[in-house]
Amino acid sequence: MKRSVNATIITIGDELLIGQVIDTNSAFMARFLNRAGISVIRKLAVSDNAEEIRAAIDREVNGVSVILLTGGLGPTSDDVTRQTLADYFGVKMIEDKGALRNVKRLYDKVYKKPLNPVNLRQAEVPEGCKVIINKRGSAPCMQFEKGRSMIFCLPGVPFEMEGLMPDVITAIRERFQLPKVIHHTIATAGIGESELAAILADFEKEIAPKTSLAYLPGLGILRLRLTSVVTGKEEEEKVNRHARVLKKLAHQYLISSDDTPVEEAVGKLLLKKKKSVATAESCTGGFIASMITSVAGASAYFPGGIVSYSNAVKSGTLGVKTTTLKKHGAVSEEVVKEMLKGVLKKMKSDYGIAVSGIMGPGGGSGQKPVGTVWIAVGSNHRVDTRKLHFRFDRKRNIQSTALRALFMLKLFLENE
Ligand code: ATP
Ligand code: MG
Repeated sequence: MKRSVNATIITIGDELLIGQVIDTNSAFMARFLNRAGISVIRKLAVSDNAEEIRAAIDREVNGVSVILLTGGLGPTSDDVTRQTLADYFGVKMIEDKGALRNVKRLYDKVYKKPLNPVNLRQAEVPEGCKVIINKRGSAPCMQFEKGRSMIFCLPGVPFEMEGLMPDVITAIRERFQLPKVIHHTIATAGIGESELAAILADFEKEIAPKTSLAYLPGLGILRLRLTSVVTGKEEEEKVNRHARVLKKLAHQYLISSDDTPVEEAVGKLLLKKKKSVATAESCTGGFIASMITSVAGASAYFPGGIVSYSNAVKSGTLGVKTTTLKKHGAVSEEVVKEMLKGVLKKMKSDYGIAVSGIMGPGGGSGQKPVGTVWIAVGSNHRVDTRKLHFRFDRKRNIQSTALRALFMLKLFLENE
């Protein structure tokens, strides 16, 4: 049987060991490797100390196919990784032409600063290593081979390391045959993890052991991810079939058939339809508008929103009738419908989202406990409304409300 390609991640830096910086790099790298079909079997964290770095590499060499090191590549004296690697392989440091060109380009075109001798040290690498240019920074990625292992040394700056990972995967692919990993992710709401697991118990047995099902709960939404390592077209088709069955089984609770962030998905749908959406927000205080505008290019479909936190603004600006507010209360289906109608008119948009709720910790009542939210989405022709109950703290209630409102709009646009 073919041995699977596995990896160890070694993070380097005193700051990681004293808890000053949280190691996010290894999580990112692990996700990236996993998606490429490489399983991470160990993570080690070591200080900026030559002996420790050597010991960590020695421990892993030949045992795993790939060793990824991150951190300690800076030009300052506390960063020792580069020299340690040169000593480890018994070679001297040499200037790499490509890396030098990159450092010069960065200082000339991006930083627009004069280069000093310390910066030039970033172009030095251990002789014999393969250099992968880091377009986002001056320290290149260095690639080595020892025994059965490929060793990659990446910068610690997360943005720079992230930019290099696709090239690292390409290099691994050239040396090892990687399996194809397929993921299908869907999102559900309105059902708990254990209840859904009970519904899907037989399905899970049927797809095992080749395909696994993961439950990923968060913010009032339960994501389900099917993962399978496939070797041919036939197996791939089988997993796709499983995904269709999963969607059918979860149909009643399904709010999304893919894993695109909902604010992006909504943006794409609106662009395609050449339509716009506006927001009328009470309890979320603009959070929905903020999510919509976090997507570049949102100006093409988002004219604006109104934060109608008080009843005075609900009626004064959005035209919600005071009689409706009195009769049904601010957190009611009638009020969110009138808020929606008001914002469609005010913003001259094709679609709208309106929310009103009680986010806590205070303000609840017997009939409308903390976490009660009414959401309306729609157009001048059709409106969908929904009452929801969240049981989190204030911050998470706000985030959950915004997410669900956007998912409601996504479904509305898809079904139209
Ligand atoms: P530089 O050229 O900036 O010195 P470097 O490759 O030497 O980069 P470090 O000096 O070790 O990397 O770290 C650079 C920055 O990246 C620091 O702010 C550091 O805290 C952060 N960093 C290092 N390792 C990690 C990690 N594993 N997870 C998250 N951040 C990290
Ligand atoms: Mg460091």
